Amino acid sequence: MPDTAHVIAGRCTAVFEGTREQEHCGDLIVLVKPDNTVLVHDADGYQPVAWLTRPDSVTVAGGTVAASDGEQSLTVTVHDASARTAHTLGHAGLPVGECPECDTDLLRGDGTLSCLDCETAVPIPRDATVLDDTCSECGLPRVRVRRGCSLVCCPDCESLTERVREGFDRQWGCPDCDGQLRVLYRGGLLLGCDRYPDCETAYSFPTGIHDGTCGCGLPVFETASGRRCLDSGCKQSG
Ligand SMILES: [Zn+2]
Ligand SMILES: [Zn+2]
Ligand SMILES: [Zn+2]
Ligand SMILES: [Zn+2]
Repeated sequence: MPDTAHVIAGRCTAVFEGTREQEHCGDLIVLVKPDNTVLVHDADGYQPVAWLTRPDSVTVAGGTVAASDGEQSLTVTVHDASARTAHTLGHAGLPVGECPECDTDLLRGDGTLSCLDCETAVPIPRDATVLDDTCSECGLPRVRVRRGCSLVCCPDCESLTERVREGFDRQWGCPDCDGQLRVLYRGGLLLGCDRYPDCETAYSFPTGIHDGTCGCGLPVFETASGRRCLDSGCKQSG
C-alpha cells in the first residue's frame, strides 16, 4: 500500500527526550515514514543521529516535526529548509513477474504477492516458491509449496487447503483414539482428529514431503530442516 513520506533537508535542531536526552544540530535530512517513524540523518554512515521508530503520534507542521511515544519524544526544529517534499513510499519486495491487470511488476513481500501500481494483491504461504509459469485463468504466477507432497497451484483461483485435503484427508489414524486425521484450516493447515471435541488431538501440517512412517505410527515428513514425525514432540525418529 503506497503511502506518503515527508523529507525535509536543511539546518535543524533535533532534541530527543526519554531514557536519555540528546540534542543534535547541523545541516541534516529528516525523513518521516508513513508508519510515523522519524529518522534524522547527518553526513555519515547509515545510522540516523536521532530517531523514533513507529511512535504513537507525529506531526509535521510549520518548521517543526514532533513525534512522541509514551515517555519518549523527538522534536526537530527546522531553522532553514533547503528542501521540503512529500513522496509516495511503498514496501520493497522481490520482482516475480508481471501483474495480469496492468503489466507492472508484481512484488513478492512477506506472505503476499502484490502489484506496484494497482490493487492486485493475494496472500501466498511464506515458504512458497513463485514460479515463472502463470495461471491460465487469472494470469498470476503459480506457486509451489510442500505440504505432504509438492503442490503447484494458483494462489488466487485454487484453494491450497482443498488440494492438501484431496491428498491427505483421512490418510492417517489418530494416535489417541480410533478416529482419523482430517485436513483442517484453523488459521493454518492442521491434521486434526475427526472425533473432535471428544478427542482434541491435532498437529500443524508440516511444510515438507511425506516420506515413511515413524516408530510411533504417525507419518514422517522430509522438511527443509530434516526428517520429522508429524508430532513435533515425538522422540522416536522415522
Ligand atoms: Zn497491477
Ligand atoms: Zn489463477
Ligand atoms: Zn483422536
Ligand atoms: Zn513419531
